[in-house]
Amino acid sequence: MTEKNLKILLGLLPFWTPWIPPLGISCLKSFLQEHGYRVKTVDANTEESFKDSYSRYFRVLKNVIPQDKQGNFYNIGHDLLQHHMMAHINHTDEKVYIELVETLAATTFFTGITTSGIRELNTIVSDFFYVFEDYFLGLLEGERPDVLGLSVFRGTVPASLFACKLAREAYPHMKIVLGGGIFSQELEPGSENLRYLLEDTPYVDYIDGVFVGEGEILFLKWLQGELPAGQKVYMPDHIDREVVDLGSVKPPDFTDFDLNRYLGIAVYSSRSCPFQCSFCAETVYWGKYRKKKARHVALRMRQLAETYHRRLFVMCDSLLDPVVTDLAREVLKTGMALYWDGYLRADKQACEPGMALLWRRGGLYRARLGVESGSRKVLELMNKNITLHQVKQSISTLARTGIKTTTYWVIGHPGETESDFRQTLDLLAELQDDIYEAECNPFRYFETGQVNSSEWKQNRKRVLLYPDNTRSLLLTRTWTLEGEPSRSETMERVNRFVCECSRLGIPNPYSLQEIDQADERWKKLHKNAVPSFLELTNKKDRIDESMELKPLLQGDNKFDAEGEFDF
Ligand code: SF4
Repeated sequence: MTEKNLKILLGLLPFWTPWIPPLGISCLKSFLQEHGYRVKTVDANTEESFKDSYSRYFRVLKNVIPQDKQGNFYNIGHDLLQHHMMAHINHTDEKVYIELVETLAATTFFTGITTSGIRELNTIVSDFFYVFEDYFLGLLEGERPDVLGLSVFRGTVPASLFACKLAREAYPHMKIVLGGGIFSQELEPGSENLRYLLEDTPYVDYIDGVFVGEGEILFLKWLQGELPAGQKVYMPDHIDREVVDLGSVKPPDFTDFDLNRYLGIAVYSSRSCPFQCSFCAETVYWGKYRKKKARHVALRMRQLAETYHRRLFVMCDSLLDPVVTDLAREVLKTGMALYWDGYLRADKQACEPGMALLWRRGGLYRARLGVESGSRKVLELMNKNITLHQVKQSISTLARTGIKTTTYWVIGHPGETESDFRQTLDLLAELQDDIYEAECNPFRYFETGQVNSSEWKQNRKRVLLYPDNTRSLLLTRTWTLEGEPSRSETMERVNRFVCECSRLGIPNPYSLQEIDQADERWKKLHKNAVPSFLELTNKKDRIDESMELKPLLQGDNKFDAEGEFDF
């Protein structure tokens, strides 16, 4: 594997929502090209036929699941789709397969689905794989890579494994490797799931290697033949936890993608996170925290904006807090209004109006905030290190400057009682006008990979979510934790959370039309609201409103002519 003229094909397969071009494989392309390799990247998620399969699946699902059981529909529906696809590619007995899909639907949404509904969903999944097979073999035929590398996340596992099989059967000598976030979650090293996949299933013959964590150096050393032979799983320990120097690494290479097919452009300024929340896998995946110089990031954004005539950037950092202020200042210095969104903690610095206004002027468009719970006790159990007062202050402060506040909530964290959950609903109601959108997730437990995985494994009884005799179809075992709250309580709370949001008028938009409606609401609620998504993505209009934005007087919609903040 040491020749430099090797051709490498890196791909992201369905289903992954194509909001931004895939950052991971674009970073790898750039890095490996620097070291002399020929690399092509592909994102199958922008193919119209696959987008159509996805829309059809969710359209049918919406019709067959009673509305009061739909919960956070797209989020939970993805679990069903993923398991359904997995069962499809691994089944040999039609009757067993149909029964399993019924069980999956019943367990995921806590409701039954009619046989005709199941059949309709099965047809969509089977049509998808029929078209996908042609697409993927055509891709391999055209590219003829020596090495195929797939970036794998929860939603892309089934198509990726199916692609490994197709590639191995058509090109037995091609090297096939996998990386991506799934290997710090369900398929984390040390987990029974990964052991099973790589030892007890046919995929053992299709996959040559799995890279865990940051990919650049690991992949390069594997190509250069510097990693121990005979391994299947390559970990950061194999390279003494060496990580790329963000100060010198080249920017991601998007040249294989038509950026017009994406809504935003992916940028990053740091890797990993300085915090350690109990349910999170970011630090386990990325290792030690590192950041780029804010000036370099801002200049890169300006260059991308000029090249592609785009103003909206999605920051892919695990957390923006350590960089947000410097980045806003540096973006202001570019003299160009650039808009960017990213994950922020609802903590002390976001509570300061002067700080929020600086961020808004410097282009912070949307703050994605892990609020998680309205219960102080649950926040402590999560090791969130934020207070409820900070949560309220920061959301209201950001909203007042017009920054969209996307809030994420975890429902059913171990130890969450009914009273804790009610406090979450109370917090939603209290902040309703300052929340741009609310997205909830049922708590998910992984046997390894989360900061608290081993503690939970030791102290709580685990139960399998799906019958164990379906393992050869689903490949992974999904565990839930026994004790308060139960899985059914969690899912019932998810439904109640969604109903409460709907009653309060807090959106959770998934389509462009829903985003537009959410933006209209935001503008009505906040005079300093950021431009709507449609305004920003309409290339004809140049929008510069952020840089000169004036702060508002307390409690009113009037502009404060003299009330400049001091920064
Ligand atoms: S949840 Fe957010 S703040 Fe907590 S460890 Fe993960 S990335 Fe960091």
